[in-house]
Amino acid sequence: MIIKNGLCALPGSDRLERRDLRVTGETISGIAESFEPEPGEVVIDASGLELFPGAIDPHVHFDEPGFTHREDFYHGTMAAARGGVTTVVDMPCTSLPPVTSLAKLREKLAVMGKRGVVDFALFGGISGHRITEALAGDMEELAPEVVGFKCYFVSGMDTFTAVDHWGFGKAVAKAAELGRPLLLHAEDAGVINAATAEMKARSVSEGRAASWDDYVDSRPETAETVAVASAIALARGNEGTLHVVHVGTAEAAEALAAAGSTSETCPHYLAFCRDDFADKGSSLKTAPPVKARGQSEKLWRLLASGAIVYVTSDHAPAPVAEKHTGSIWTDYGGIPGTGTLFPYLYSEGFKTGRLGLKAFLRATSGGAARRFGLDGRKGAIRVGMDADLVCIDPRGHYTVKGSELLSKGTITPFEGMSLSGAITLTLVRGKTVWNAADGIVAEAGYGKQLRWGYR
Ligand SMILES: [Zn+2]
Repeated sequence: MIIKNGLCALPGSDRLERRDLRVTGETISGIAESFEPEPGEVVIDASGLELFPGAIDPHVHFDEPGFTHREDFYHGTMAAARGGVTTVVDMPCTSLPPVTSLAKLREKLAVMGKRGVVDFALFGGISGHRITEALAGDMEELAPEVVGFKCYFVSGMDTFTAVDHWGFGKAVAKAAELGRPLLLHAEDAGVINAATAEMKARSVSEGRAASWDDYVDSRPETAETVAVASAIALARGNEGTLHVVHVGTAEAAEALAAAGSTSETCPHYLAFCRDDFADKGSSLKTAPPVKARGQSEKLWRLLASGAIVYVTSDHAPAPVAEKHTGSIWTDYGGIPGTGTLFPYLYSEGFKTGRLGLKAFLRATSGGAARRFGLDGRKGAIRVGMDADLVCIDPRGHYTVKGSELLSKGTITPFEGMSLSGAITLTLVRGKTVWNAADGIVAEAGYGKQLRWGYR
């Protein structure tokens, strides 16, 4: 197959360049000014369209098995494909069983492994209540199957609990020994638990209903900066193993970069601040919450410089009944984000010039591919790589509608946002999985599991 005349995002370049791409089987086999089709060879005309490496979203909660009323692998990967994401990495904590041992990983894979339409990798989990087993052998057994490990300093889940600082220090050392990153949800329990108790009492003592300010103040920015400072201290000697997820404060991201650790942020931290709860209400509820006005532009700059390595969605939808419970404290914290990740960054990062081409590519695909050992085949338009491509009409527009995301979750803070650029086509390993005319065209199960060092 030849994809003709597209404006291609090639590695190392500062601007898009008109090229023909030849795809043979699952792989990009040639890049040239022009290819003549061989007899019978399919030609896709991409004149006027832009071609990027398929986005990598290494932070999704697809909840299967166990919590599939919120999301399942089929819907989650359809939403990804529709949004130009060709590889996802699924979190270990929001399935039943959680992925804390090899046996549990196999149990999960048996249910969801043949359901996806895009490629996927898995994280292993380190839950506080199983830290002894994790260190004694579960992490080692999981390592060949996972691209990293994940733990929490504070957790609202009974099935996956927080690690203490002592256990975290040991887990970082073990992950370093196994050659896998350790991902941390960095909010400090000592700050959050006390702040939450105080904010729950505040509205009562003031004789009013709880407000979104109470929620944001229950998880203050210091919860993140304190947790990150602790994590850096505890990871000493293994800083390169530490990766902090969904960072919302520039201070935390700067401290991590200075220590030689990595971080990610999410579109909701780039797009919104705490004042937006007035309009968005529960649709904006995530944990950690969005921050004070002013953080977003700092995060954009850190993304442009590479101090924040990439952007993830933290995709974690919930049905209407769980998002609107009548109390800000019990409304589900999480949003369906994988479908808006790439369109948002393309429009508000690349098209506005906040991110140059190299930074945009690092943020959406290259940075995550390198961090998770997938860059032998994923994360760039280069000969020999998997033909994972997203094709965009730069003159088109995309207005976000939660009901059309293809996720099980329909409540998004991006509802109604008008973005520049319209995705026309998403290919995974040379096969169209979604196009604008037909929607999803891949079979469930087309997506395959990727492991560290995938080639
Ligand atoms: Zn998450």
